[in-house]
Amino acid sequence: MAEVIKLMSEALANQIAAGEVIQRPASVVKELVENSVDAGADKITVNIKDAGRTLIQVIDNGCGMSEKDALKSFERHATSKIYKTDDLFCIYTKGFRGEALASISSVAEVELKTAQEGDQTGTQVIFSGGEFVSQSPVSTPKGTNFAVKSLFFNVPARRKFLKADSTEFQHIITEFQRVALTHPMIEFYLYHNSQTVYSLPKATLKQRIIAICGKNLNQDLIPVEIDTSIVKITGFTGKPQSAKKRNDKQYFFVNNRYMKNPYFNKAVLLAYEKLISPDTTPPYFLYFEVDPRTIDVNVHPTKTEINFENASDIFKLVQAGIRETLNKNDVAPAIDFDNAEAASLPYFSKDMEIPEMPRETFNPYYNPFESTRSSYTPGSYNTTPQEKHNLENWQKLYSNVNENENIPFFDGGKTVSEDEKKIIQVREKYIVSPIKSGLMIIDQYRAHYRVLYNKYLLQIDNNADSIQKLLYPEKLSLDTLSASMLYDLRDEVLSIGFDLDFTDITLPVLKGIPPYIDKNQAVEILTDIIDNYKEEHGNIQTSIKDILAKSLARRQAVKAGRPLNAQEMNSLIDDLFATGEPNYSPDGKTAVVILTVEELEKKFL
Ligand code: ADP
Ligand code: MG
Repeated sequence: MAEVIKLMSEALANQIAAGEVIQRPASVVKELVENSVDAGADKITVNIKDAGRTLIQVIDNGCGMSEKDALKSFERHATSKIYKTDDLFCIYTKGFRGEALASISSVAEVELKTAQEGDQTGTQVIFSGGEFVSQSPVSTPKGTNFAVKSLFFNVPARRKFLKADSTEFQHIITEFQRVALTHPMIEFYLYHNSQTVYSLPKATLKQRIIAICGKNLNQDLIPVEIDTSIVKITGFTGKPQSAKKRNDKQYFFVNNRYMKNPYFNKAVLLAYEKLISPDTTPPYFLYFEVDPRTIDVNVHPTKTEINFENASDIFKLVQAGIRETLNKNDVAPAIDFDNAEAASLPYFSKDMEIPEMPRETFNPYYNPFESTRSSYTPGSYNTTPQEKHNLENWQKLYSNVNENENIPFFDGGKTVSEDEKKIIQVREKYIVSPIKSGLMIIDQYRAHYRVLYNKYLLQIDNNADSIQKLLYPEKLSLDTLSASMLYDLRDEVLSIGFDLDFTDITLPVLKGIPPYIDKNQAVEILTDIIDNYKEEHGNIQTSIKDILAKSLARRQAVKAGRPLNAQEMNSLIDDLFATGEPNYSPDGKTAVVILTVEELEKKFL
């Protein structure tokens, strides 16, 4: 039976910024689970009661501890993982301060059962409020079983400071996910009040990511492999079309430890420049391996921020490496190319298949009769295959439009036949029309967003109490964090017509939806609502009706890049002005600009 725990020298202890180790139940989960990983376990089970107030139990099948070590592990600076100062710079394991167990046992009742390979009996050690209570032989399987009860029972101020159970449990999930995402070859279980929250078999990294973050990611992940002398980066990054507002699926790990790193985050975002809309960010799961001597993990007591010696070089490697990864995968820009859902409004016929137009295709100065002088030929610029395809489709369609509908065409915009108002579309984005006082320019997306938003607000109010029962209730595949947020929001979403069954909190089942929406949209809309809730950190400021109306409207509003015919443009303008608030989109962005004749005249002075 090996005794492996030594006491650190006082000097070494002081070298380590101690800080507050245990701030909340989630900190206990993190420390115990990391110890289990360090102990070489390949199966770790976490049992939580009442968001950790009543019980936090972590059971592993790792190496276990000897009788003596079991006792010693509670001493401050007891660690088997670091003996001398030099080791501090070579940290691969998770724990190294040797103070977690001492801290936990000083603010809770801790019961430890542990046994090593080949032990006849194991040992049980009990501590309460920092005091040794008992040690006795016990029958227990190989491995370690920590039960932490009544956390902060002797620190009432601390206990009172804890947030709502749902919040504390979310913190626990977050810590659990971070560890599970770094060890796909370990089986993990998380139970809350005897319900299964996660059951994660051994898996590949990609399977593990999907098991934790939801299967929607399955199509979206591109493998990353960046190998240089100062850093090796593996993992996955999202395709541009998977970028979202408020993306919370962004993870960096270094030497298998989760880290926050706003600086490298910036590098990733730069790699996506021009591929995604600037208000969105992609998901990513990036695992850095560096020589541990080139990082300082002690800048923050909870160790999520890490200083890199070669930070600026790594920044460039990340940016270039991810960009290259994206290029190699031949990803088409997502910006303005998101397949605008065919809106269900009368003026946008559903089966009108219109290929998306590549940007920068039309040269307003192009004159087909002056081929020698023209420096521009459509398709001659450096196109990706996707753009080329779009372009060809567009050219076909364009000739059809001209033959069949007789709509004159110039400069990338369209004019309409004489009997209708003069109106053109510019860059598939703006609708321009002369008015008495000058020129009116409308942003087509924002205008349509406004129209639909007002329409939906009315509809939501009119249908306040009606729910369309689903014939086949649908299980929602949400990640656990989202599911628990949805649970918190159950009354609000019910008030707008979403009827959910939470028999299993982690697996909400959709039983009814608002009568005016499509079943297919329901999940996306709920996700939107949850995202909003996340962004507002759990307090919905905006009314749920407002969020719903915006979500529905945004989803269906005609995007930039969508050619509109004259009739569509005219109806859109009519509807926009009929809302009575045409000037701004529901997000407060300018939807209409008027260039007055005076302003025009000034430009010609
Ligand atoms: P650290 O992890 O920083 O070494 P801790 O206070 O977390 O300090 O743990 C103290 C020691 O107790 C560890 O170094 C390890 O030897 C032992 N230990 C803790 N948890 C386990 C476990 N699950 N299995 C085996 N040994 C453990
Ligand atoms: Mg530890």
